[in-house]
Amino acid sequence: MSDPKKFLIVGAGLSGVCVAIQLLREGIDVTLVDDGKNESSVIAAGMINPLVFRRMTKSWRVDEFLPYLIDFYTKLELETSASFFSEVVIRRLFSHEQEGDFWLDKQSNSEFENYMFPISEEDTQYAKAINLFGSGRVKNAFTVDARPFLESAKKWISERGSILFETVDYPQLDETCYKGIKYDTLVFCEGYHNLSNPWFGDLPINPTKGETLTISSENLPEDESLNRKCFVLPLGNKQFKIGSTYVWETPKAETSEDGKKEILENLSHLTPENVIVLDHEAGVRPTIRDRRPILGRHPNHPNYTIFNGMGAKGYMLAPLLSREFVLHLLIDQKLDPEVRVERFYLGR
Ligand SMILES: Cc1cc2nc3c(=O)[nH]c(=O)nc-3n(C[C@H](O)[C@H](O)[C@H](O)COP(=O)(O)OP(=O)(O)OC[C@H]3O[C@@H](n4cnc5c(N)ncnc54)[C@H](O)[C@@H]3O)c2cc1C
Repeated sequence: MSDPKKFLIVGAGLSGVCVAIQLLREGIDVTLVDDGKNESSVIAAGMINPLVFRRMTKSWRVDEFLPYLIDFYTKLELETSASFFSEVVIRRLFSHEQEGDFWLDKQSNSEFENYMFPISEEDTQYAKAINLFGSGRVKNAFTVDARPFLESAKKWISERGSILFETVDYPQLDETCYKGIKYDTLVFCEGYHNLSNPWFGDLPINPTKGETLTISSENLPEDESLNRKCFVLPLGNKQFKIGSTYVWETPKAETSEDGKKEILENLSHLTPENVIVLDHEAGVRPTIRDRRPILGRHPNHPNYTIFNGMGAKGYMLAPLLSREFVLHLLIDQKLDPEVRVERFYLGR
């Protein structure tokens, strides 16, 4: 029997750990390297919302992503005896009358019945938040508690493969050799740090800063996640995570007074309460203008590959996309054309 293929993965945020898990499940030898500067996956609220409220549409490929991610996260919870994945009801407080009409229109469409509870009298009269135009509740929404998820995933990986805690300096890579060991394939999952990658750094991965607050509130509901202008995710003990901001072209995970002000201003459209701010965090999302991730091989160095650009929805996209990516690398299964890296190389 030949030796298993060896893969080196650079970056152990959500993307890197998902790719590592998929490869290890296929019996591949995996080394994962991370420098611990995780500034996105660990900051994320981990919300998985099947709807896009702005246009009242379904999120891209949600019918495929949801069943897969439910299996993926619950299986990992069972295997690591951890708890990080849960269902949550998102209550959208409509921003204007028309939004309520859009909802009413969609709720009777079979395409949406998995994702919308029909509006009830109680939703229209909802009084636990400022309610100007009624509200609707989202079905099949979930949250991943980012820190315990990443810890559990890394523990699972270290029991089956290797994790190194260091920065991969690009000159240390000699073709596919790293520190004297030869790998069949390198996978770059560097989040916005991809900007300085010599092979993939020209791809349009936009560093989009986001800030969140953890607050304490006496009046906000703890049984649902409110949403209008911002999300309010209950954490228990009258604490909530709220956010987030979007600042393009900002590769710095620094909190700011402007960010805090913006989030609190947005919250004031849901509650008049003067909440207490307990914590303030910032991260940088790897975002693509066309809102599709970037997956595939380098055109001139086919052993160098990329899995990046998860944007604002990584916790929904990464489980199934990492599976499709690994099948692409191992058995040449075709990738969804919308995520292929080649879309940026056409015409060059
Ligand atoms: C404020 C905020 C809120 C968010 N909320 C949500 C949400 O509710 N739901 C959702 O689905 N998504 C959310 N996201 C988005 C989500 O966090 C991202 O889609 C996802 O985490 C991106 O993961 P990644 O692994 O690609 O990148 P990262 O998390 O940035 O991980 C990259 C890793 O690679 C390491 N690295 C980079 N270069 C090297 C190198 N040369 N050597 C060694 N290590 C290296 C970095 O240190 C880092 O650990 C949010 C993001 C932010 C900032």
